[in-house]
Amino acid sequence: MGLKVFLNGEFIDEENATVSILDHGLLYGDGVFEGIRAYGKVVFRLKQHLDRLYESAEAIRLEIPMDKETFQGKIIETLKINDLKDAYIRVVVTRGVGDLGLDPRKCKKATVFIITDKIKLYPNEFYENGLPIVISKTRRNHPRTLNPKIKSLNYLNNILGKIDAIDAGVEEALMLSINGEVVECTGDNIFVIKNGELCTPPYEVGSLEGITQKAVIELAKKRGIKTLYKNMMPEDVCNADECFLTGTAAEIIPVVDIDGRKIGEGTPGKITKQLLADFRELAGADGVEY
Ligand code: PMP
Repeated sequence: MGLKVFLNGEFIDEENATVSILDHGLLYGDGVFEGIRAYGKVVFRLKQHLDRLYESAEAIRLEIPMDKETFQGKIIETLKINDLKDAYIRVVVTRGVGDLGLDPRKCKKATVFIITDKIKLYPNEFYENGLPIVISKTRRNHPRTLNPKIKSLNYLNNILGKIDAIDAGVEEALMLSINGEVVECTGDNIFVIKNGELCTPPYEVGSLEGITQKAVIELAKKRGIKTLYKNMMPEDVCNADECFLTGTAAEIIPVVDIDGRKIGEGTPGKITKQLLADFRELAGADGVEY
């Protein structure tokens, strides 16, 4: 049996789940989304993901046609219908069907869908050997244009960054701000470790407030490791002792090389490995059970 998805109030077969070509999510990237994970029937930090979804929607003045509690129920129901224990969950809310103009008032009802599927993990070798990355030529959106804090469907900035990575033969690219500061990768936040301290860029430079990032900061604190939100230039990454990326899909991925320059020893660092182990322990134990 194929997967069922939630679409506008109904559970239907994935192959029959379609949205209109006049949906502004498609025409203009006018909508918001979340990527969430379930670990052994526990949805990791679901409340935080829903909070971020509703905050993103509010930032683009999009009204989600159900409250958070109902939304949470629909996510859980989708997981149960598909009998998934470990899953990747994609939640999307678009402005809905309108006309060919930009005017969001023409969209009378938001489109809501939830897809749950088996999680496709990055190959294990990335966790064991670390990831090489490059610096993208594409600069991250400035917060005063389209704030990267909003997890919107308008991901073209990130996709252009990803194309830079693909062109260079690697999986991820580091995106800098207009002023050349380190911001984040195309789908992950970045941390560096220098002299035993974690550093991650402040959100004002234009990054998403990552839920994995926040979990890592808490885990580090428990181990007595401080985190600084610090403005960094690319040299700070090159000269770091360790570096890693965080994200829902990636969890914690060590970065060992940037633009062909080794970071630290050029192998995943000790603190990175410890935090990854801590994160995996936390992941199945911190969220909503179903
Ligand atoms: N930055 C960007 C641009 C992202 O798309 C994501 C999510 N994949 C992240 C950071 C990481 O956020 P989270 O840990 O909440 O998944």
